[in-house]
Amino acid sequence: MEIRFSRDEEAFRAEARAWLEANVPRGQRPPPHDLHARRAYDMAWQRTMFDAGWAGINWPKEFGGRGASLMEQLIWFEEYARVGAPEASTGFVGLKHAGPTLIACGSDAQKAFHLPKILKGEVVWCQGFSEPNAGSDLASLQTRAVIDGDHLVVTGQKIWTSFGHIAEYQELLVRTDPDAPKHKGITWVICPMGLPGMDVRPIKTLAGNADFCEVFYDGVRVPLANVVGRLNDGWRVAMATLSFERGTAFMSEQVRLARRVEEVVALARRVPGPSGHARAIDDDEIARRLALARAEVEAMRAMTYRSLSTAARTGMPGPEGSMIRLFFSELIQRIDQVTMDILGPACLEGFSLDGAPEAGFSERYLTGLSQTIGGGTKEIQRNIVGERVLGLPR
Ligand SMILES: Cc1cc2nc3c(=O)[nH]c(=O)nc-3n(C[C@H](O)[C@H](O)[C@H](O)COP(=O)(O)OP(=O)(O)OC[C@H]3O[C@@H](n4cnc5c(N)ncnc54)[C@H](O)[C@@H]3O)c2cc1C
Repeated sequence: MEIRFSRDEEAFRAEARAWLEANVPRGQRPPPHDLHARRAYDMAWQRTMFDAGWAGINWPKEFGGRGASLMEQLIWFEEYARVGAPEASTGFVGLKHAGPTLIACGSDAQKAFHLPKILKGEVVWCQGFSEPNAGSDLASLQTRAVIDGDHLVVTGQKIWTSFGHIAEYQELLVRTDPDAPKHKGITWVICPMGLPGMDVRPIKTLAGNADFCEVFYDGVRVPLANVVGRLNDGWRVAMATLSFERGTAFMSEQVRLARRVEEVVALARRVPGPSGHARAIDDDEIARRLALARAEVEAMRAMTYRSLSTAARTGMPGPEGSMIRLFFSELIQRIDQVTMDILGPACLEGFSLDGAPEAGFSERYLTGLSQTIGGGTKEIQRNIVGERVLGLPR
């Protein structure tokens, strides 16, 4: 299969590349543990994109987005990754799934209030879906909400809430009908963070960061007007959220991965090899694994293009997205593993030396372990591929 871009798409690429090259932030991104500085950096970049008309590349124009076609989005994300522009990070939930969920299922008032704030980089959103006993089996969630006047009163606990401690709003799933079948009694509600009765506790990860939180709710009063969709219709809304979350994220990943492999190749040329070679790249096994990683990144590019060309024809991303997500998450871990094998004990030294280039590699490795969990574990992705792509029995 060969995908060719039209003349208009090539013109779009030239425009996107020129703008990105001129405007991409030059300063160092704040370190992962400095969440407030990270937030400020991410929001400032979002504002820059907004002012130039690039914010919300896939959002419809009527809601302030760019309204780009699927191919234009692919081009944008390729160029975006090529210049090394910052990942959405603290802005991810708002831009990639809360905003799109409001566009698809929210009321006019909710759209009018929230969408411009997200696009302008004025607010951070977080996602309150997972609970200690509801991850892969999300529909088992227990956090309760009962109606009291024109409010929902929420009691329970969420966990793994990324950026919950710096967010203004949360996509919150609550059980509003405990007697209904488990998929039927759930409601999706916009929960402002910091309401009375809410306790947000950071969780430190093995990489030393505290991106995650536990969030406890003790009689938290959320206006009924914040319900997105209808009461007890939250499963449908949540499925929309997850399809946006998983949908187009992979577009830029193949370029990001290609950059990462080349960085590791450069590292292998710079540092001694694990078995006494002057340069790691001279070790046959290291060279073989790096060559394989390059080939696998190309394979992922082909899968991405194929999936996009299907989506452009059918209008739907389809379950094949799980194949790309699975392949990506395991490939990035293989790349991080070969990096650690190249560095050997130096990866530990680097990790403790603030600012040393090797510190970044060690942190990536530790952070990357979560790739096969977040957004659906690798086992869940395999289930989807088995059942919905290959048609195997359940
Ligand atoms: C980086 C990161 C960011 C996250 N951010 C957020 C966030 O912002 N908001 C939020 O709500 N959640 C977030 N999560 C949580 C994430 O959605 C869950 O961790 C994930 O859904 C898995 O749930 P769990 O951890 O409860 O594991 P479990 O579901 O308990 O799974 C445990 C193990 O059992 C396996 N397993 C479970 N069910 C099956 C099955 N049917 N078939 C085969 N194997 C199965 C799993 O694959 C896994 O290996 C984040 C997670 C990570 C890693």
